Amino acid sequence: MLVLGLETSCDETGVALYDSERGLLADALFSQIDLHRVFGGVVPELASRDHVKRTLPLIKQVLADAGHEAKDIGGIAYTAGPGLVGALLVGASCAQALAFAWDVPSIGVHHMEGHLLAPMLEEHPPKFPFVALLVSGGHTQLVRVDGIGRYQLLGESIDDAAGEAFDKTAKMLGLNYPGGPEIARLAEQGVAKRFKLPRPMTDRPGLEFSFSGLKTSTLNAWQKSVAQGDGGEQTKADLAHAFQAAVVDTLTIKCRRALEQTGLNSLVIAGGVSANQALRVSLESMLKKLGGKVFYARPRFCTDNGAMIAYAGCQRLLAGQREGLEINVRARWPMTELVPL
Ligand code: ATP
Ligand code: MG
Ligand code: FE
Repeated sequence: MLVLGLETSCDETGVALYDSERGLLADALFSQIDLHRVFGGVVPELASRDHVKRTLPLIKQVLADAGHEAKDIGGIAYTAGPGLVGALLVGASCAQALAFAWDVPSIGVHHMEGHLLAPMLEEHPPKFPFVALLVSGGHTQLVRVDGIGRYQLLGESIDDAAGEAFDKTAKMLGLNYPGGPEIARLAEQGVAKRFKLPRPMTDRPGLEFSFSGLKTSTLNAWQKSVAQGDGGEQTKADLAHAFQAAVVDTLTIKCRRALEQTGLNSLVIAGGVSANQALRVSLESMLKKLGGKVFYARPRFCTDNGAMIAYAGCQRLLAGQREGLEINVRARWPMTELVPL
């Protein structure tokens, strides 16, 4: 089955064609980062308006790239939530209208299930069951995964998501949006251990996260340095290094705990922060000691993309799931409510 996937939940218009027999055939992305940068974050109304402009041209592009025509498409998958409602409605309306016109089935996909399954597009995909660490702009969750739609939430952030903490900390340090890649780049020039930041909630049992206090500790350390006349580029890099190390250590400790608790030794990391090289290195070294393995997607499929939605939607369409003619999206949607395949 040839499936067209549309992702419009936030500030990326992602479109892809996935074939159940031949795999991923084409994918295209338009990122609105430049549009939102001056505001230091995503402006929902601008995001929706831009998705309206980009979606159809990107669909035309992926069809051409894959050497296919509209009549070859056997199903359409679109992100139905969670995300910005106006942005979600663009992809959902477009997908439902095309599915109606082309007389093919459609399926609304959960954005985080898309992220979670993105490593399935790689050459050595993980096998169920595994523990997944979802680390993105809006989520930090540890999930036990026994199959598609079989998700048990083990723990999550009680305040900021990991990606959000990267973005907010970057903003405080005067770096560009999105902050994750900016901090990671700057951290490479940083001196380790000059600043010591907390590893939140690692001193007590449990799989919950909290990144809000870490952000404040980073800000305090920065303001203290500036007050002492030490607010230069090197100090900024040293702090970026310390912040990233604190996030990476914290995530690694909680992942190890989740693996021990479940008795599993495969770990999937997904979402924008899973592109972070320091995190990958730290988790790989931890899993090596446990005799297990870490799985992740190529960097461009860690952040938002159409390929993950086409893949997840294809699995659900093959299982016979379909949408009616109504157009429904959800700003909030717990992943544990999904129907198992
Ligand atoms: P959600 O998926 O929870 O709805 P989102 O779609 O906005 O949120 P993603 O697109 O998955 O999130 O990821 C974007 C986030 O990933 C941003 O917060 C960004 O700063 C972060 N990020 C991207 N690359 C890196 C990196 N190399 N290191 C750390 N963080 C990164
Ligand atoms: Mg984004
Ligand atoms: Fe996302």
